[in-house]
Amino acid sequence: MTKFSDLKLDPKVLQAIADTGYETPTPIQAGAIPPALEGKDVLGIAQTGTGKTASFVLPMITLLGRGRARARMPRSLVLAPTRELAAQVAENFDNYAKYTKLTKALLIGGVSFGEQDKLIDRGVDVLIATPGRLLDHFERGKLLLTGVQIMVVDEADRMLDMGFIPDIERIFQLTPFTRQTLFFSATMAPEIERITNTFLHAPARVEVARQATASETIEQRLIEITPTRRDQSAKQKRELLRAIIKAEGDACTNAILFCNRKTEVDILAKSLKSHGLDAAPIHGDLDQSQRTRTLDGFRDGTLRFLVASDVAARGLDIPAVSHVFNFDVPSHAEDYVHRIGRTGRAGRKGCAITLSTPADQKYLDAIEALLKKPLPRVAAPESFAVSEASQRPARKTDERKKAERPARSSSRSRTREEKPSPAQENPVVAQERIVESAAVEPKPDNQHERPAKEKPRSRAPKHDRRGDTSGPVVGMGDHVPDFLLRAVPRGKASTDS
Ligand code: AMP
Repeated sequence: MTKFSDLKLDPKVLQAIADTGYETPTPIQAGAIPPALEGKDVLGIAQTGTGKTASFVLPMITLLGRGRARARMPRSLVLAPTRELAAQVAENFDNYAKYTKLTKALLIGGVSFGEQDKLIDRGVDVLIATPGRLLDHFERGKLLLTGVQIMVVDEADRMLDMGFIPDIERIFQLTPFTRQTLFFSATMAPEIERITNTFLHAPARVEVARQATASETIEQRLIEITPTRRDQSAKQKRELLRAIIKAEGDACTNAILFCNRKTEVDILAKSLKSHGLDAAPIHGDLDQSQRTRTLDGFRDGTLRFLVASDVAARGLDIPAVSHVFNFDVPSHAEDYVHRIGRTGRAGRKGCAITLSTPADQKYLDAIEALLKKPLPRVAAPESFAVSEASQRPARKTDERKKAERPARSSSRSRTREEKPSPAQENPVVAQERIVESAAVEPKPDNQHERPAKEKPRSRAPKHDRRGDTSGPVVGMGDHVPDFLLRAVPRGKASTDS
């Protein structure tokens, strides 16, 4: 087995590694560090959780040990797709470079240009940036990239998802042809392949086993419910979620809860809070200081539930997360693996619970195909089964139509299933209802963080932004205009009222 001391790293780096307590390099480190130290380009196919950050930070520090920083001309550049990931790389750098004199600057949005300018003016060895902010600095004439000797692209597949590839290409062109490139991606989509063919020179390709099976330390569970009404789906999932959290009790010390849309992230966080659970949202529309505060709170244990979107939580390294909840089944199977990988880290036990409805079937099929095994089905907790939103078969179309009539709020027209549960009569839950009305009226599609991939979904009818096409579409779907539901005065009523 390779040891860190076999890797020809700078002794100061080895000392910092010893301080962290890591004994042996992970496979991506053992594979990527030697060619990187030889000055070769590296194409690392690995995802977060594999130790890939150290696989580029450690050789970078070693290589930069010789030479000195020059004003406005960073000697190396690390590009990361999100602010949080960039900040995480910066933390890694601080940790492993603590016995060296190397300097760094972190260029991310949401932070004033002034401070960042000062650092760049002074000269830094390592510049860690998100692509947009880096180009902003460049365009303001504050930065020269002609001194970059080592360029790292981290999480390239996420860059692709977020539409950053043109920026990355531009940045590549601004750096010297002779630079060394260390390029990391979890997957090799054709577009990523094209970029690597264009900008990498005879790279050493290091691939670590895809985490498709997820860590053995993660217990996975799937809880399926059939909402009593489609427009109640999110609400009933929230009820189910609370029942699960209650049933998990102290075993659930903290959790990341994933939603597919930013609007749902906000709604779920508010709803959990209104039920007395300690939750906060994190997604790309929140300002940076709020995101940082929320993350810090979650890291230091003062916040128990972090409700997140995929992009915001991607690659976050929070070692002790007991649970991951997929409030929504992710629509991209790989996201399932990324999400549940937030728990069960560093050999700890973790629990990943996914909530699904019949509308999620095709996504579930894709996940199970990727994992090459079915997710273990588990019954909903008993406390949920006895509540109004229990697991019951979907109602027939005409019943659903009745339920959607304007008169549905009157107790006279309620079906037995629609009677308010004691919980719904509770004023706390009244707030939930307000939140609810936002849930059934999704904001436009630009709320989603991945417009490119989500395009097909934007064509889905308004009532069904999650791409659910499994339910029967009757006439005008769920949005039957009121006038069509009104009884026609002459002859027989034309509606089924
Ligand atoms: P990353 O894939 O870079 O996000 O790293 C995932 C986690 O693995 C982080 O918490 C690292 O601190 C940790 N880690 C990195 N290298 C090692 C190693 N050689 N041994 C044990 N843990 C490591």
